[in-house]
Amino acid sequence: MTELHDTLLTFDTHIDIPWPDQADAWSLHTDRKVDVRKCDQGKLRSVCLAAYIPQGPRDEAGHEEAWHRVQAMLKVINALGGHQDGLSANVCRTAEDVRSAFQSGALAIVPAIENGHALGGVPSRIGQLAAEYGVRYLTLTHNGHNALADAAIPRKDLNDSPELHGGLSELGRETIREMNRHGVLVDVSHTAKSTMMQASELSTTPVFASHSCVRSLCDHPRNLDDEQLDRLKETDGLIQITAMGSFLRKGGGGTVEDLARHVAYVAERVGVRHVGVSSDFDGGGGIPGWQDATETPAVTQALLKAGFSPEELTAIWGGNMLRLMEKAEQASISA
Ligand SMILES: [Zn+2]
Repeated sequence: MTELHDTLLTFDTHIDIPWPDQADAWSLHTDRKVDVRKCDQGKLRSVCLAAYIPQGPRDEAGHEEAWHRVQAMLKVINALGGHQDGLSANVCRTAEDVRSAFQSGALAIVPAIENGHALGGVPSRIGQLAAEYGVRYLTLTHNGHNALADAAIPRKDLNDSPELHGGLSELGRETIREMNRHGVLVDVSHTAKSTMMQASELSTTPVFASHSCVRSLCDHPRNLDDEQLDRLKETDGLIQITAMGSFLRKGGGGTVEDLARHVAYVAERVGVRHVGVSSDFDGGGGIPGWQDATETPAVTQALLKAGFSPEELTAIWGGNMLRLMEKAEQASISA
């Protein structure tokens, strides 16, 4: 089993970086769930590292702060590439970059942004961040509505009503058009269902949920219901089942077996082509069986036990995400 795991291009599509960053991702021992050595040990080959921007006030000061923070975080993520003690990490901008990193034995790092609040209300900035820092996806919201869209979980402390825009705002629509133009994938994790359904209609490239689970198995507002899964199938999108105990099992306590169960549910309902895996490590993720990057082989083991074939594992573990990245790249070239 471990032998099979070692051959797979394992791709975890949502990992946070601790902030403020300690610049220790290459150190021998870190408190991080994900660092270069832990990825090597667990044969986790490719990671989306997210510059996470907490939702703040939707005013000028709040927008300025978010815009500064996202650039600082993306600089740190971009600086993680390098070589040390026989290990390598490459910051990757394309699916092809990820594949060549894998071939050469380097960890592939794909920059992403969690929360469209980062753009400070200026949609064209996503093009700038894609060009300067190689950002490959943007999660439209975090918890709390922002200027672009409604979130699945409103923030009472920010005076959120249940709904703000009824899905996407005009600014949100403009942002998605800019994202399509620059090959940045639309991430609908954290968004309200209305936002997700509208985004999947508007976006010319398939939308995906970088870290969410299945609502009919665990009724949590962060999870996608069957209608949303069906929409992902219709639009060739993707859901990346995540290692968050409270999304996997009602009341919490989900394990790596539950994660495999959620993957199997999606595969059965809409097909293996539309499901993958993410950890949300260093952002709250981590479950018995998959507590940090060193334990990644346990995910492969749980998926094998759930009945997936080696070919299906290739798709679930990264093939599907790479296909989506390629689609976004092609759309941006022809835009
Ligand atoms: Zn998140």
